[in-house]
Amino acid sequence: MPVRSLKQTSFFDPEFAMPGCLAPGAVPWLLARHGSLLFPDWLLAGWRDSDIGRDGWPARVLVKMLLLRWLEEGMSRRCSERRAKTDVVWRAAMGIALDKAAPSERTVRDFERFLQAQHVEAGVQRALLLHEHIVRLCRGAGVVGAGAVWAADSTPMWCYGAVRGTVRLLGDGLRSLGKMWARSTKQKLSVVAADWHLPLLLGKSAKGSMQVDWRDSDARAGATDSLARDVLRVVDLLRTDIASARSRDRGRILQLCRSLVRVVRDDLSEDDGGRLVVARRVARDRLVSITDPQARHGRKSKKRTFKGFKLHVVGDVVSGLIASLTVTSGNVHDGAPASRLFGRAKALFADIEKMLGDTAYGGAPLRDRARYEHSIEVVAPAPPVPAPKNDRLRKADFDIDFDTWTVTCPAGATTTTHSWAKTREGKARLFSFAVDDCDNCELRARCLTGSHRKRRLLLHVSEQTVREARTAWLSPDVRRLYRERSKCERLVHSVTRHGGRQARAWGLRAAHLQAHAIATVCNLGLLAAAMAQAP
Ligand code: SF4
Repeated sequence: MPVRSLKQTSFFDPEFAMPGCLAPGAVPWLLARHGSLLFPDWLLAGWRDSDIGRDGWPARVLVKMLLLRWLEEGMSRRCSERRAKTDVVWRAAMGIALDKAAPSERTVRDFERFLQAQHVEAGVQRALLLHEHIVRLCRGAGVVGAGAVWAADSTPMWCYGAVRGTVRLLGDGLRSLGKMWARSTKQKLSVVAADWHLPLLLGKSAKGSMQVDWRDSDARAGATDSLARDVLRVVDLLRTDIASARSRDRGRILQLCRSLVRVVRDDLSEDDGGRLVVARRVARDRLVSITDPQARHGRKSKKRTFKGFKLHVVGDVVSGLIASLTVTSGNVHDGAPASRLFGRAKALFADIEKMLGDTAYGGAPLRDRARYEHSIEVVAPAPPVPAPKNDRLRKADFDIDFDTWTVTCPAGATTTTHSWAKTREGKARLFSFAVDDCDNCELRARCLTGSHRKRRLLLHVSEQTVREARTAWLSPDVRRLYRERSKCERLVHSVTRHGGRQARAWGLRAAHLQAHAIATVCNLGLLAAAMAQAP
């Protein structure tokens, strides 16, 4: 039995029970020794600061518990509650004596909601504020060296809600609606099933209780049609009778009704016989889960697809520091949140000049926004030059002087005459050559189409950026720098290793909090190593 020291507060001190449980350089050690530095009072201000009721757990203990939850591969809240009760290292990191209780799952859930809310003074989500505070500490501790290489990438994050096919989305959705309605109107489920003429509400599975041979295509189409019509009938019924439900449940019931109608609209179409059958088409924003309505189909590559969310990461591939990240639905293009992430990273590291990214980040609009809004040059494969069709002259065969806005064709004719055309990206220059030049031209057959007497050339809104990117992409220095991008897998791996591949709660807000907690844990690992080595 160790002897009690003067510094120690009691025999129930975890470090007394297990000396050396906090290894210097590890995250629990950092949490235990530098809690006030990592989680200053201003950051967690507003947590149960009312003087009514019993004292709550201090925010600093709860934030440590939240981060420890993602230190390994991630775990459920219930599991983290058990771990906090029994694990001496966790107790030492959280600063709880062995004879004291641990925070309950419900408290952790409340605290997560607190972190998801905006900070009163900063006007930013607290989880994001916490992540950026730790990034600043990492910067101060010299985690990011002079040779930092910044890169952006994305990775799939599977949603927490059940992903189903069309029939099960409708069937399970209808069953959930029945249960919700029975609970809200204080009726038995059997009464609701009888009222709605839907025995499937009482069965163990929607598909099983329909008693259909699902291998028979005709029977399958008939069952789908009848299920879809049942859904529409019940939704109509509930919308007119919504006042019978408890007021606090009405929003959820109507939301589920909207989701079910959306599944019918997106996934089904009428066949020749007027039956609603599963449509053979691609729906752009198709619902894949009734319980996780923000989850979507995503595509990792041409052949690999996933369902759920997408995690976008920006960081230094040399040190492994994650500077900014976000979570979107799975069908959001990588380029869409990129500019915002670049801006947040630039606000933390003013010396970022170049950002490596794959082809998804190589589009001209993102390059322009990164350059003009954040002074960042995107290093990514340039948009490819379209292959020539029937030996015809392409736009890429014309030279453009962007200083004088003069276009020179392959035959040597020049023009500065242009008008403006409306395109999807915005107003673009439409150049036209003189009829006299084109009438006497040897390349006329390859340049003009149909009865056109002069060539017109529509430039892209960001034509200059596209051409500069194509020229830069030919440079060996750019290609050498781009090879560093493959190390970006390290950033992605550090997030997925701590449980970032699978969302642990429903919805994007929860996934966002989870992603930021994981990134904070990853950065704390780097900070702990740096602080352990510091004199
Ligand atoms: S047809 Fe007109 S634009 Fe085309 S190459 Fe000849 S002169 Fe140039």
